[in-house]
Amino acid sequence: MIPQPLVETRQLGRWRMHAIQAGGQRLDGGAMFGIVPKTLWERRIPADERNRIQLGMRCLLIEHDIGPILIDNGAGNKEDAKFYDIYGVENRGEHGATRLEDGLREIGFAPEDIVMVIASHLHFDHAGGNTKKDASGAIVPSFPNARYVMQRKEYEYATHTNERTAGSYFKPNFVPLVEAGLVDFLDGEAEIASGITGILTPGHTPNHQSLLIESDGEKAFFIADLVPTAAHLPLPWIMGYDVEPLVTLETKRAILRRAVEEDWLVVFEHDSTVAWAKIENDGKSYRARP
Ligand SMILES: [Zn+2]
Repeated sequence: MIPQPLVETRQLGRWRMHAIQAGGQRLDGGAMFGIVPKTLWERRIPADERNRIQLGMRCLLIEHDIGPILIDNGAGNKEDAKFYDIYGVENRGEHGATRLEDGLREIGFAPEDIVMVIASHLHFDHAGGNTKKDASGAIVPSFPNARYVMQRKEYEYATHTNERTAGSYFKPNFVPLVEAGLVDFLDGEAEIASGITGILTPGHTPNHQSLLIESDGEKAFFIADLVPTAAHLPLPWIMGYDVEPLVTLETKRAILRRAVEEDWLVVFEHDSTVAWAKIENDGKSYRARP
């Protein structure tokens, strides 16, 4: 099942903002919820016969003053059928090569229009769409006129893998961009474009970043894999995939407090149904405000 709708749009201050569902993905439910028992997590997201739960791969397009800016870009089209089956990735487009291209087309943009592509981190389900295979099988940038922005230390981590991390980082997703001179590296927190700030949110990976987007007093927060779905809002609901789960815990504690205090609209990248929500704390736990 491919999560729907393809595109959800809302205004943030003076910018239009589009959540594009770049496809579906199914991952092991136990791995997605870490120490949380199945009896608890399956009430939030049911498991299939292979114990996998349905996820999305949501990207965010901001109609910024400098042109369309894209945050993350799903899994792309470069892997083989076996790979897509293992991870339950369903992202082939009806019109373009990928669902992401279909989503861009639905809101009137072509990949050539994108001026900037920002990466939360370089795992294949977030950065696989950075590059694509052309008709000859060569790997080329998917967004040929864009600057690609990523944390320098995340890139170093992605290019120096170990047995635990290698399954998520594939060099064709990012090394060709660096070789082509298309990458602008960030060294920690930085304003990337006016009103869009990369904020380090370590834990899932040591140099994972989230994006705070501010326009005319309104704030949205692309939280990426710090809180992949709305079901992951309670502090101890942390993915087994995280390389530093206790760091994730402290990052969540600080970030979710700010999300409530500053009334952020939090964007959920992997939630198959909830694109975004304001956050509240009911005295015991964080949750999406209905
Ligand atoms: Zn990840």
